[in-house]
Amino acid sequence: MTTSSQTSSRFKDELRILSPWAYALAALVFVAIPVLFVVFIGRDPKAPPFAVRCLLGAIAGTLLACYVILIGYINRDAGRRGMSRLWWTLLAMFVPNGLGIVLYFILRKPRTAHCPQCAAEVAPGFSFCPRCRNRLQPVCPHCQRAVDLGDKFCPYCGGALEPSAVAPAAPAAIQPPLSS
Ligand SMILES: [Zn+2]
Ligand SMILES: [Zn+2]
Repeated sequence: MTTSSQTSSRFKDELRILSPWAYALAALVFVAIPVLFVVFIGRDPKAPPFAVRCLLGAIAGTLLACYVILIGYINRDAGRRGMSRLWWTLLAMFVPNGLGIVLYFILRKPRTAHCPQCAAEVAPGFSFCPRCRNRLQPVCPHCQRAVDLGDKFCPYCGGALEPSAVAPAAPAAIQPPLSS
């Protein structure tokens, strides 16, 4: 898998958290702003020519729709990072020049994940759940370090990686805890 396709699929996954109202509002803005520019500003005798109004309307509509999508994203994303959804949404909306949005992406906390087996909170980058030893990420069977799914050899110890050994373990395939 190439990096660009990974990035785009991650981008699609991220957009999936948006609520339908954010999409609806963005679509409305995307249509309403050009109409406003072309029809209503056109009634002003000093208005710029039709083609210029179309272009300005399309640009303004696209920018505002992106702005709405970003605010909708922050509204959802803040929640899954344990940050205040209300305050960050308000900041993103009302701090001028999009600075609230920029601030959010600088200050946002790392996303907390949960172990699929015991629901314990696990930090990004953990290979095993610290509470139940569930395997969270593909790991090298020889040195237990995190590896990529597509790798054939471990980048740390050079050991051969079999596809079945690297795949995240299903609950049934979990190794029993080491006896002490
Ligand atoms: Zn666990
Ligand atoms: Zn290894």
